[in-house]
Amino acid sequence: MINFNVPPFVGNEMEYIRQAIAAEKICGDGGFTRRCNEWMEQHFKARKVLLTTSCTHALEMAALLADIKEGDEVILPSYTFVSTGDAFALRGAKLVFVDIRPDTMNIDEKLIEAAITDRTRAIAVVHYAGVACEMDTIMEIARRHHLLVVEDAAQGVNAFYKGRALGTIGDFGCYSFHETKNYSMGEGGALLINREQDVERAEIIREKGTNRSKFFRGQIDKYTWVDIGSSYLPSDMNAAYLYAQLEHADEINDRRLAVWHQYDEGLRPLRDAGLIEQPFVPEGCVHNAHMYYIKAKDLEERTRLLAFLKQRGILSVFHYIPLHSAPAGQKIGRFFGEDRYTTKESERLARLPMYYSITDEDVRTVIDGIYAFYGRKAEG
Ligand SMILES: *Cc1c(COP(=O)(O)O)cnc(C)c1O
Repeated sequence: MINFNVPPFVGNEMEYIRQAIAAEKICGDGGFTRRCNEWMEQHFKARKVLLTTSCTHALEMAALLADIKEGDEVILPSYTFVSTGDAFALRGAKLVFVDIRPDTMNIDEKLIEAAITDRTRAIAVVHYAGVACEMDTIMEIARRHHLLVVEDAAQGVNAFYKGRALGTIGDFGCYSFHETKNYSMGEGGALLINREQDVERAEIIREKGTNRSKFFRGQIDKYTWVDIGSSYLPSDMNAAYLYAQLEHADEINDRRLAVWHQYDEGLRPLRDAGLIEQPFVPEGCVHNAHMYYIKAKDLEERTRLLAFLKQRGILSVFHYIPLHSAPAGQKIGRFFGEDRYTTKESERLARLPMYYSITDEDVRTVIDGIYAFYGRKAEG
């Protein structure tokens, strides 16, 4: 049996968790949390990084910091995880869904401007599979219309656009360290704050609306309730698990990229024969092998493919039911313009097993399974 995902484990996680416990500081903002924040600030050249309890919560913090209010509109793709919508819907915003590009499955930057109204406050982009959206165009549109940009970079940790880390380009960036992501802490995430003016308020919102972070730095002599907020800081034990992984980030990234290329090269003859489509990575994007997917002809073929692989003990999955066709999405949002690609392309996409510890042999088995489905013999 070949799993779809196995959480990454590189070796030092147990020892670091033990150290967190030995330090008698297992709540939030202990030594490992600080080390994770600093590691990301250095490696991704981020102004400020705050570890959070999830990417969902980082998105909620971004919506709070952006002061999204009842009746505001937020532009986002419908092809995304529910959290991208939830965060803004919780503030009372209307979601305006824009179609995706079929090549990257990212929001189509050329359709954004027409969706802007006088109620639009923000654009939330999703870097699907760790492949960047067309950020130069998106930032230019946002600046011209005075809109904030939130990057849902849940899948984009350690991926880059024209040399800049995903999550550091918009006003806010949101990472996920869920067990299905490239680097993990079980449940967890981070908020990247790219404007100096938001840093202090971000610390306050994350600490239940108090200025406790300032208090711990000795900048004030007692802390108090100064704003609305919630509890968005993870336990230092979880941060300890993550820190072990960040120390081995290159190793994890290299292994995932090797798996990605094994799939890509192994399946190329099927693409050349016109039987499947493969992922596309635009010029200037350095991806992180978060995902390997193929596209079948249509929904019916994909359904048969997933069932065929499952019979062979291979767990491959589909992705996402577009938000605008889900019951909540219909209530909270509307699709702007024509749904040319969102539904059609989402129905064709199949994600293949992809994780740090998968073996070359297992990848070979998956490739062979796909050849068998299409009635072809794998080469090599
Ligand atoms: C995984 C994911 C999330 C949610 O991450 P959590 O850390 O589980 O909250 C949000 N958006 C996208 C695009 C994701 O892939």
